[in-house]
Amino acid sequence: MPQSLSIVWFRQDLRIHDNPALNAAAEYDALLPIYILDDVNAAHWAMGGASRAWLHHSLTALNQSLDGRLQLFVGDARDIIARLLEEQQVDAIFWNRCYEPWRVQRDILIKQDLMGHGVTSRSFNASLLWEPWDVAKKDGTPYRVFTPFYQRGCRQAQPPRQPLAPPPRLRYHDVESDFAQPLDALGLLSTHLDWHQMLCNQWQIGESGADDQLEQFCDDRLVEYKLARDFPAIDATSRLSPHLHFGEISPHQLWHRIEHIASQAQSEGPAHFLREIAWREFSYHLLYHFPQLPEDNFNPRFDGFEWRKDDAALALWQQGNTGFPIVDAGLRELWQTGYMHNRVRMIVASFLIKNLLIHWRSGADWFWDCLVDADLANNSASWQWCAGSGADAAPYFRIFNPVLQSEKFDAEGHYLLRYCPELGGLPARLRHQPWQASEAQLQAAGIRLGIDYPKPMVDLKITRERALRRFKALA
Ligand SMILES: Cc1cc2nc3c(=O)[nH]c(=O)nc-3n(C[C@H](O)[C@H](O)[C@H](O)COP(=O)(O)OP(=O)(O)OC[C@H]3O[C@@H](n4cnc5c(N)ncnc54)[C@H](O)[C@@H]3O)c2cc1C
Repeated sequence: MPQSLSIVWFRQDLRIHDNPALNAAAEYDALLPIYILDDVNAAHWAMGGASRAWLHHSLTALNQSLDGRLQLFVGDARDIIARLLEEQQVDAIFWNRCYEPWRVQRDILIKQDLMGHGVTSRSFNASLLWEPWDVAKKDGTPYRVFTPFYQRGCRQAQPPRQPLAPPPRLRYHDVESDFAQPLDALGLLSTHLDWHQMLCNQWQIGESGADDQLEQFCDDRLVEYKLARDFPAIDATSRLSPHLHFGEISPHQLWHRIEHIASQAQSEGPAHFLREIAWREFSYHLLYHFPQLPEDNFNPRFDGFEWRKDDAALALWQQGNTGFPIVDAGLRELWQTGYMHNRVRMIVASFLIKNLLIHWRSGADWFWDCLVDADLANNSASWQWCAGSGADAAPYFRIFNPVLQSEKFDAEGHYLLRYCPELGGLPARLRHQPWQASEAQLQAAGIRLGIDYPKPMVDLKITRERALRRFKALA
């Protein structure tokens, strides 16, 4: 009797638990687990440097969980799958769905190819609590505002399914493909070795790291989450975003774990955390229904806006040399750790868009390259939210003052000193705005403005008024 062979194609679901595609594939006599690095179809949205480094380690962890049987490929996924079908007697292919527009288009073509070959294929939902097409307004159109999306759309839809146990046994296909590649051949690690090492020191990458992270968060930080999540010096948020992005943990696992706690908790922390998870759902809802979200203004009124093209200013922002400590700390945190606190993401985005009048896409591109959690849905929706051009976005006149934000959310400057330690000799009040220090204070702190720490690159008041004038003209 010939053995039946299935392929499980891992994508943004680099885990064994709660993986419906893996469970389906494990029903066959033999299983071939694969991952394809498909920069060809991703094109402009090929992963950035930080994500690639994360992926390298995540694939290492997944391969260990699969007893070293994960086979890796590089190239156009459509060609790779066609070649695999020529090479092996494949009966079925299973995968979990992704929602990036380029992946949706590619997967439709692959499904058609498979049908032509008489190979069974099936995709599953493993990374969203609610499929974008299952949540709609009464008139059948997609939601554009978060609160009704969450309260009416999601909360009144079917509750998210329970997480699945992993397959009891995995029986692997024992033939290695001739064109499978070793992990190093994927070239995921930057030659900038220090940077890559720094990322590794900050994170425990892989499924067990994600589980540990969730447990620590539930034990230590969840109760205070609502109160503390806006203060970047406090380790108050879950830091699960890269684990969620790469699917090392599923939102279903998170949801049910936290909902159970929420039902017993006195604090508002768990319910507030579920709401943030729903913001992720909302971003995907938007990306699915408005696939042009990463490129075009969601609100076309912004199409006429005249952004400034200023590469020198953009470079100062990217390098964390703007002269505004909270902005610089955020961008330096991003570079050094592949992460930035949410409050600070909003501050640096507001500064780029409103004070420098540089297009939100330039900021989104930089985040795309540097964030370990770079995610097309969350990143595009969040940048457009900050710009005011997005769905349910911040109004144009909300322009964060980086000094006031810094004083409010990092009063002692503990966060900013982590990344701008050169300001440590100043009294707390002046760490937020070193240009206000007297010569004597600067001298006592050992700072020469413009040499040890930059002078402010713009005048906050003038640039705020300029932005208000320009954005108001659109309204
Ligand atoms: C300009 C800008 C760009 C952003 N780019 C990304 C990105 O590329 N990838 C990304 O995952 N998040 C992005 N965010 C959203 C948010 O900053 C991060 O999800 C969050 O900081 C991750 O840290 P955490 O896991 O500790 O969050 P927690 O506070 O612990 O939240 C838990 C989870 O909820 C989700 N979440 C939280 N806040 C948001 C939000 N505002 N929108 C959507 N989902 C949210 C994330 O999946 C997060 O992991 C961006 C925000 C801004 C303002």
